[in-house]
Amino acid sequence: MKIFSGKAVFGGVAIGRISIYKKDEQQVKRIKVADVEAEINRYHEAKNTAIEQLEKLHEKAVKEVGEASAEIFEAHQMMLDDGDYIDSVENIIRTQEVNAEYAVAITGDNFSEMFANMDDEYFRGRAADVKDISERVVKILMGDESGSIESDEPVIIVADDLAPSETVQLDKDKILSFVTVHGSANSHTAILAKTMSIPAMIGTDIPLDDSVDGKMAIVDGFEGKVYVEPDEDTLEAKKKIVIEEQNKKALLEELRGKDNVTRDGQHINLYANIGNSKDLALVMKNDANGIGLFRSEFIYLGSDHYPTESEQFAIYKQVAETMAGKKVIIRTLDIGADKQADYFELPEEENPAMGLRAIRICLTRPEIFKTQLRAILRASAFGKISIMYPMIISVNEVREIKAIMAEVKAELDSEGVAYDKDIEEGIMIETPAAVMIAEELAREVDFFSVGTNDLTQYTLAIDRQNQSMDKFYDPHHPAIVKMLKIIIDSAHKYGKWAGICGELGADLSLTKEFLAMGFDELSVSPGRILPIRKIVLETNVAEYKKEKGLQ
Ligand code: PEP
Ligand code: MG
Repeated sequence: MKIFSGKAVFGGVAIGRISIYKKDEQQVKRIKVADVEAEINRYHEAKNTAIEQLEKLHEKAVKEVGEASAEIFEAHQMMLDDGDYIDSVENIIRTQEVNAEYAVAITGDNFSEMFANMDDEYFRGRAADVKDISERVVKILMGDESGSIESDEPVIIVADDLAPSETVQLDKDKILSFVTVHGSANSHTAILAKTMSIPAMIGTDIPLDDSVDGKMAIVDGFEGKVYVEPDEDTLEAKKKIVIEEQNKKALLEELRGKDNVTRDGQHINLYANIGNSKDLALVMKNDANGIGLFRSEFIYLGSDHYPTESEQFAIYKQVAETMAGKKVIIRTLDIGADKQADYFELPEEENPAMGLRAIRICLTRPEIFKTQLRAILRASAFGKISIMYPMIISVNEVREIKAIMAEVKAELDSEGVAYDKDIEEGIMIETPAAVMIAEELAREVDFFSVGTNDLTQYTLAIDRQNQSMDKFYDPHHPAIVKMLKIIIDSAHKYGKWAGICGELGADLSLTKEFLAMGFDELSVSPGRILPIRKIVLETNVAEYKKEKGLQ
């Protein structure tokens, strides 16, 4: 048995096999080949395999996200069979006597560049598609299985680090736990593990080689340890913890269907944070009163092109319909910083967390923003949707958003498209600037939701992605607590509601404090809803305030 240590970011115990996550990096080399015809055959075989893979992906996507969103996989199959594309690959192999990988990669680059320079927006959008199909064929030619989970059984994913764009592509049904060598406790991979309620560890001293790959292991997210090839005693002890945890969960199950009301009658909404429509099952299971943060950027991260209006509409509609009249707060695109999608072609920045991200991208590139707003508004006819804007720093930004929103609504009106005319619009408070002008902002919007992850980062001047700064990253810092009070009081002064959707909202040691401050909502990972409900039901806010000397 070998034991490795790290920092646990979510508790629980997982038992299963390790699968080392391989990065999706392809280094295509130019190699001279002797038998040109054999190389062309190799290319055709890989192309046919790619078409079969896409056919399977198409079938899976039709079931999971519907026909409209699945169309892209059909389009990709057709592109692979395009005569000009095939001619180009064969030509390069023949005339330069080179390997198929190189010929496909060069053809992909050339075609994608050609599309990117076209006037027509539709064709410009195809540039990323050509690149994508070419990468798929190159991968098959290279026998590369990167980015996929080979096992049929759920596994413990062990990786150097995982970017949000990588985690989003993983098949969540096959993951028991995340263990990374690097990564920070406040990263989106950690947040994803919390959403999935699975044990996760960062900063783990585990090797990324065959000494652990494929081996049975236990991840103990309570003590921050990974046991590879555990002995019988350890296995028995850990199985006992798994059973205890299941029993605790069963007790909490009894709180399903109960109102979140304190002993002295104060009510609070407990909503769930989600990253995609697949998380809905967890939302239902944990009896959330609504969705307080739908991180819509995960749709963009899971795509290799700008998600179209109809692709987005299908997802938002599905979420709204599934929640059947319960509130669904969709946060508009919060891309940038650690959440990068190549096709946005964002500039390299010295300090990306303080650069072009979130609402700044939307206001700089309104065509992207408008597509999303149209999709959200159209979906609002099918449930109770609210919109929330991230990274706000000024009243002017809110006014600019309102002007764009008015244009989009006018367009929909002229097309006779139905949407909720009174759709609620709120903002995230996640910059110190927004806290300082909270009263001015409260006059402009319907609600606030505090993003404590970024608010802590920007207030304490600590990069939330930087693992070595984790010891300084303190969301309990008195500055943050004081800010929370300013935010809630400013919202209430203007008759607006306020909640917390950052990770601090799920901190059970502060639930009573949040109730005492008067927060109207907490939006947390689905697995945290019932533990918080338990505290709410046990609390007498008036007594707590007396005890703490608060008015
Ligand atoms: C936050 O910053 O607290 C938040 C909820 O947004 P994200 O973690 O996605 O940046
Ligand atoms: Mg944030």
